Amino acid sequence: MGIFEGILDFLYPPRCPKCRAYVKARGDWCVECLRETIQIHRLPLSVEAAGSLMAVWALGRYRGGLQDLIRGLKYHGKKGNLPCIRTFLNSCDRVLADVPSSAVAVPVPLSPAREKQRGFNQADLMFRGWLAERGIPMERMLLRKRETTAQYGLSAEERRENVQGVFSLAEGICARGRDVLLVDDIMTTGATLSACAKVLRRGGAARVYGLVLASDRA
Ligand SMILES: [Zn+2]
Repeated sequence: MGIFEGILDFLYPPRCPKCRAYVKARGDWCVECLRETIQIHRLPLSVEAAGSLMAVWALGRYRGGLQDLIRGLKYHGKKGNLPCIRTFLNSCDRVLADVPSSAVAVPVPLSPAREKQRGFNQADLMFRGWLAERGIPMERMLLRKRETTAQYGLSAEERRENVQGVFSLAEGICARGRDVLLVDDIMTTGATLSACAKVLRRGGAARVYGLVLASDRA
């Protein structure tokens, strides 16, 4: 441990992101909380979404520890949450069993203005290292033209319209014949993932899967 980490641990002792109990090292969860939070499940897709997505998995529910970690990172720039997210991901390797080994990971993009303001794309930040270590490289294949109104409070129909025509393939990207794992922090109705998958499929992608850290869907 370096001096800096030593001081940091003294000032802010590492805590479990769910129950806030003190833990040994930064990024640790207590065993019980981690076990409760891992809830790998396949998400139900609308008929339309199922037309372009093979399957979408969520690793947990959008509440408790995971919700705090995601919100803190996204809205308060707390990169200190990344080690806990990584520990969580490291315990979810089994979700990748059904993803083709040829797949490339593609983060759902933010608009350039939003990414500049936030300083990062949270999906890229959360998933890149974990997936790269498992042989799935990340590639920024998609562009988002504009930011959409918050999806919360919109009907399924409104959400679909909200994201229509927002995504496109990034310049010079060829998706033909490729298998893609779309990654995002959360999924609500799947309208965003579906819109991204459609663009990739139109660009010739073979199979598109989705993976999100958490979902508030059943
Ligand atoms: Zn705990």
